[in-house]
Amino acid sequence: MTNFDINKLTRTNVLNMKPYSSARDEFKDFKHEMIYLDANENPFDNSVNRYPDPQQLELKELLAEKRDVKVENILLGNGSDEVLDLLYRAFCEPYKDNVITLPPTYGMYEVLANINAVENRAVLLTDDFQPNAEAILSKTDENTKILFLCSPNNPTGNSFSDKIVFDLLSNFSGLILIDEAYIDFSEKDSWLLLLKEYPNLVICQTLSKAYAMAGMRIGILYASAEIISVLNKIKPPYNINILSQEKALKKIQQSTLDFQVKKILVERDKLFEALKTVDFIEKVIPSDANFILVKVDDADLRYQQFIDNGIVVRNRSNQPLCDNCLRITIGTKDENEKVIQLLKTLQYA
Ligand SMILES: *Cc1c(COP(=O)(O)O)cnc(C)c1O
Repeated sequence: MTNFDINKLTRTNVLNMKPYSSARDEFKDFKHEMIYLDANENPFDNSVNRYPDPQQLELKELLAEKRDVKVENILLGNGSDEVLDLLYRAFCEPYKDNVITLPPTYGMYEVLANINAVENRAVLLTDDFQPNAEAILSKTDENTKILFLCSPNNPTGNSFSDKIVFDLLSNFSGLILIDEAYIDFSEKDSWLLLLKEYPNLVICQTLSKAYAMAGMRIGILYASAEIISVLNKIKPPYNINILSQEKALKKIQQSTLDFQVKKILVERDKLFEALKTVDFIEKVIPSDANFILVKVDDADLRYQQFIDNGIVVRNRSNQPLCDNCLRITIGTKDENEKVIQLLKTLQYA
């Protein structure tokens, strides 16, 4: 990507505005014991009576070290949903700009486009669930601000080809957001390694999946310091609460991630093999994530049979290219054995 200009990409109101300056932005010398009378807090200590650190420095320092980036390259949000919403609000002018999404994919990109009154140009994945670079570039114009690539993709579970992503990174002139919510389940490297080389690359990860903290609502955006600083300007000042910041720090330090991910991958392989032997399952898509997409004979029927047996899966039939497809998340060993048992019972029913 040559001649990338962040100022051309940013909405004029965002470029020109002054950000809200919170009490904790103005005074942040936390080294000395001080008497805090600047934020109208209740002085009686109960561990949450003070506002949280608006920049979440401790948590970012830990993530920066883990992912080998700088703190200036990180933005945290109340789930990925918030960081994605901030991208729209910073860079997409309502009723004027557009984004490109690649269905079948994560539904929030389109929902956020609608909320922000930004046109969503959908370009279907190819039959083998890869981005169609040519079609994407032909749908692009000077108002195309963001291209959403989800890799590994939800709901298909596959990763996108490096070659196609490189092709897009070199030829697409807006921001390219790679959603890596499932990267820790994949053998492929994170695109974070290339952050320095592509000024238009933005990567989003989350603590909701491999890190086992979906209830905490912490999404992570990695990008150039320039892009992060635009987003920092418009984010709600105290968007990550104290409880989440503290608990996320503790849980990441304990790091059960490798152990749990290994177990989930073993289970994914077992389930994959078992699914292939079921006669009403027509296709099992190889997965780089913690779920498997299968094509069955009759998705509505099979979905209901799962429910009747106390198991909830996701019916993705209404998504393009996903006719009669169910998405099954990898559970514990016990849970997966119940799935396999049920499939066998249904097969011979
Ligand atoms: C689950 C998921 C997320 C995570 O969203 P959070 O708001 O961080 O929980 C993001 N992107 C994709 C593609 C997902 O499937």
